[in-house]
Amino acid sequence: MNTEASQPFDVYNATLTELEQLLHNWQQPPFRARQLYRQLYVNWIDDLAQATDLPAALRERLAQETRLGSLELVHTQHADAGMTRKALFKLDNGAVVETVLMVYPERATVCISTQAGCAMGCVFCATGTLGLLKNLTSGEIVAQMLWASRELRQINPQISITNLVFMGMGEPFANYDRWWAAVERLHDPQGFNFGARRMTVSTVGLVPGIRRLADAPLPINLAISLHAPNDALRSELMPINTRYPIAELLAATRAYISRTRRRVSFEYVLLNERNDTPELAAELATLLRGSRTQPPLLCHVNLIPWNPFPGTPLNRSIRKRVLAFQQVLIDAGIACTVRVERGVEIAAACGQLAGHTQLKPTAAPASLEIV
Ligand code: SAH
Ligand code: SF4
Repeated sequence: MNTEASQPFDVYNATLTELEQLLHNWQQPPFRARQLYRQLYVNWIDDLAQATDLPAALRERLAQETRLGSLELVHTQHADAGMTRKALFKLDNGAVVETVLMVYPERATVCISTQAGCAMGCVFCATGTLGLLKNLTSGEIVAQMLWASRELRQINPQISITNLVFMGMGEPFANYDRWWAAVERLHDPQGFNFGARRMTVSTVGLVPGIRRLADAPLPINLAISLHAPNDALRSELMPINTRYPIAELLAATRAYISRTRRRVSFEYVLLNERNDTPELAAELATLLRGSRTQPPLLCHVNLIPWNPFPGTPLNRSIRKRVLAFQQVLIDAGIACTVRVERGVEIAAACGQLAGHTQLKPTAAPASLEIV
């Protein structure tokens, strides 16, 4: 059964033009769609009753024939004295996704999911153990940002979300078109108006997605999950490496940099005595530093001490090894930081999102779309 098709139309799946078309078909004057769009993306309503500038009859029809989002909030969890919050949402097919809001004194970051589960099977990732359960619609991606905006308004109305990272569950480039529609909707200056330079997408290394992003009209930041400096080790940790090996990945990254002039981040999860030796750090430095024929990559390395999840034999690198690895890179002239994690105790940190109450989906999993 296609549960999505049997549900009323989710308004967050529509562009302003599509809403205009819908309300035009309902014989509404043209400005009504703009009013509704403002209510959705400027006022962040979570109930049509709050859209008091719309006539009651229109609100009634919208309530009957559409729905305000298709994410069902199951629960939220708090950590770091309430400054980290994780929401667990249920989808139509019963799968769940998670969104994490991290609040700092003068800024706030939201980490958003693009798929329920993930087909990529990276051995160190809790989401990867689930397989792919659903490609999120643009509306389901956008609605996570609206949840975070409302949540932040309650925590600290003086600040707004400063950064959006597509680093939650799933591989954004395996759901490229819907992910991109969400980016455009969130960016739209007539609506949510979130700056593209404040968005970062993280990819496991799907080369066609990197090439597409290089030609995209908005300057979204790119982070690439590297995690190993050679193909043998990377393929062990990340099966996708057999399809897009390191040379191909770096060629696409170089093309992206020369086209956009933007610096990329390489993420490197540190697994104790697996990929964290000084020799591998030196190999990584050589890879990124360039050669006589290749200029150095315009990049930054973000080291992520691995976050544990139940049922794996892997271990987090001890602090001494993290710092030693970082030092080798710094000595080689490569910008390198260690990511400070939030929300580890509520399994909200990188790679821990698996929806601990992951319910069995009732619909068949969506097929994998490698762009
Ligand atoms: N699928 C995308 C984005 C989601 S994962 C990607 O793989 O890039 C976001 C980041 O968390 C990636 O760099 C991923 O490698 C990292 N990650 C996955 N599992 C992790 C874990 N258990 N601990 C720390 N980081 C992890
Ligand atoms: Fe998927 Fe990213 Fe996890 Fe790999 S690290 S399994 S690509 S979510």
